Amino acid sequence: MSILVVGSIALDTVETPSGKVVDSPGGSALYFSAAASFFAPVNMVGVVGEDFDFGVVNFLQDRQVDLQGLSVQAGKTFRWGGRYSKNLNFRKTLFTYLNVFENFDPAIPEPYRRSEYVFLANIDPELQLKVLDQVETPRLTVLDTMNFWISGRRTALEEVIRRVQVVILNDEEIREFTGENNLYRAARQLLALGPEAVVIKKGEHGAVLIRREGYFFCPAYPLDQVVDPTGAGDSFAGGFLGHLAQCRNLEERSMRQAVIYGCCVASFNVEDFSFRRLKEIDRADIDRRVQEFQKMITL
Ligand code: AMP
Repeated sequence: MSILVVGSIALDTVETPSGKVVDSPGGSALYFSAAASFFAPVNMVGVVGEDFDFGVVNFLQDRQVDLQGLSVQAGKTFRWGGRYSKNLNFRKTLFTYLNVFENFDPAIPEPYRRSEYVFLANIDPELQLKVLDQVETPRLTVLDTMNFWISGRRTALEEVIRRVQVVILNDEEIREFTGENNLYRAARQLLALGPEAVVIKKGEHGAVLIRREGYFFCPAYPLDQVVDPTGAGDSFAGGFLGHLAQCRNLEERSMRQAVIYGCCVASFNVEDFSFRRLKEIDRADIDRRVQEFQKMITL
C-alpha cells in the first residue's frame, strides 16, 4: 500500500500577516510526504542542492518515508518566495529559482515502480508524464499542479490529465485551465478528458469532490488563526491519498472520507509556518479532528 510521490523540494521564503520565514523547508513532495506518512509508507522522489539541510527531513524517515529517491546534485536547492494578502485568500509569487530543479529528470528507483498509489505533485507536466511511463499498473494515480505550469505547459498538462484517475486543483487553477468561470462546468470539462474524479480545493471554504455520479462537500476546519497557508494543497493531497492507501478501496464512501482527511491534515498544516505542525502532531490528533469534522457536517 505504499505511495510514490514525485515533486518539488524547496527552500521557501514566505510572508504572511503573522510573520516571515526565509529559506524554510517546503516544496510539494515534502509537504505531501509529511502528511501522507501518517497513513501509509511513502516513497519520495525529488532533488535538492548541496545547500539543503537534511536535519530538517530526518523526522520523515522515522515516519515511514523512504528517501532512496532523494537525489543531491551540485548546485543550489529550488527556491520559491511568496507573499499572502491580509485575508490570506491571495498569494503572489515573488520569485521562483528552479536551480537544481531545472534539470530534474525523475528516475524512479526500481522498488518504487510497483507503488500502488502515485501522487504526481506539482512539477513540470512533462516530468509527470515521465513518471507515469516508469510505474507499473498502480491502483490509483492522482495529479496536482499550479498556475506556473498551467500557463507554461498546457499541452503536456492536458495529456497527464487524460492519464490519471483523480485531479486535485484549487478553484483559481481549474478556472485558468478550462477558461470556465463556473466550477461545476469546469470540473465536467476535466472529467470529459478521462479522470474519474476532480477535487476542487476552495481555501477557507473547504473542498468539493466531483464525480460523474455526484458531489461531496467538505468545509474547512474553523480555525481562529491561520498562520501560513503554504502547503495546504499538498498536505490536503497527503491526507486524501494517505487515507485511500490505508483503506485500500476506491468506493464512494472512502473517497468522501478521504476528502475529510485531506481537509483535516491541511487544517493542521496551516497553523504554523513550513510543516512545523505536521512534525508536532500524531495520528490520534488527526483522528480526533476528523471526528469533529463529522459532527460539523451531520445533523
Ligand atoms: P501549495 O501551497 O500547496 O500550493 O504548495 C506550495 C509549495 O509549492 C511551496 O512549498 C513551494 O516551494 C512549491 N512550489 C512553488 N512553485 C513551484 C513550482 N513552480 N513547481 C513546483 N513546486 C513549486
